[in-house]
Amino acid sequence: MKTAKLYSFIDIRIEDIPIPDVGPNEALVKVKASGICSGDVMPWYIEKKAPLVIGHEPAGEIIKVGDNVKDFSPGDRVFVHHHAPCMLCSFCSRGDYVQCNEWRTSRIIPGGISEYVLIPETNLKNDTLRIPDSVSYEDAALVEPVACVVKSFKRSGIKSGDTVLMIGLGVMGAIHVMLARHFGAGKIIGADMVDYRLDKTVELGADNIINVSNTSLKEATMSLTEGKGADIVIIGPNSVEAMETGLQCIAPGGTAVLFTPAKPGESLTIDPNHLYFNDINIVTSYSCGPDDTRQSLELIERKIVSAEKLVTHRFPIDRTIDAFRTVAEAKESLKVLITFD
Ligand SMILES: [Zn+2]
Ligand SMILES: [Zn+2]
Repeated sequence: MKTAKLYSFIDIRIEDIPIPDVGPNEALVKVKASGICSGDVMPWYIEKKAPLVIGHEPAGEIIKVGDNVKDFSPGDRVFVHHHAPCMLCSFCSRGDYVQCNEWRTSRIIPGGISEYVLIPETNLKNDTLRIPDSVSYEDAALVEPVACVVKSFKRSGIKSGDTVLMIGLGVMGAIHVMLARHFGAGKIIGADMVDYRLDKTVELGADNIINVSNTSLKEATMSLTEGKGADIVIIGPNSVEAMETGLQCIAPGGTAVLFTPAKPGESLTIDPNHLYFNDINIVTSYSCGPDDTRQSLELIERKIVSAEKLVTHRFPIDRTIDAFRTVAEAKESLKVLITFD
């Protein structure tokens, strides 16, 4: 089977490897669509894991199951989560699935951009979802990214009528904009420096946009919110500058969601009194767990989010390097998929 293996940021090779054997509690999926994630193109993040078969957002059809597998059968159309928790440990029992050791160490084999993917026991049992007929494979490839946004809104503590400021309007920002109303947002403001992405965001439901290449984000946010700031500020870009600016845009009582890590070694300086006297919260939102993927699939089934609106590029596996470059450039693209026959 063909797989896309990353050796360095500019060296992705299509390699032929044997189709994995299926153990008694495992299943094999023929991949139909597999997304490239914004996290896949953070060089420091992905290169420390290299060499690896890239991609972690596959959807496809089960073609073989092990002897002990009762809940799935060949022919099932599925979303597969690349990490799955044990559901038993203290982290899992409080819903902090991504802190579970099993979540951290579980993985799909060999990775998402591969003609076939082996689903190990924990992933099959705890976070593989059968998709309804009305959900396409391309839609199903969105379950994981949409689930990350579901978690982000849950952690934000958003309340009905809140003003949401989304900083960074790549695909993850676009999904936030599409779901903001569902989670109760009143006004939705999007900020980015790429016109294509700003325009797209308006189509997807933003009420106002701010082009940060020629406008001060703080001033523009204040003027759109009668000087108050946004109740919820979601910070997408992988930079401390974006975090610092984002913190200046929050209304008293509001919350900043750090949706992305900073670069290694960077530190964020905060004025504790600014937070204290304004009752400002900072929360993080790292990845997602099985409760989020289930909610995500429901939202996708209800067409609140869809591949039709988000997928801008499709490539065959042989052109994974072009797909990867398109995501890394972060210009006139949103979701980029590798699709298979
Ligand atoms: Zn992802
Ligand atoms: Zn656990």
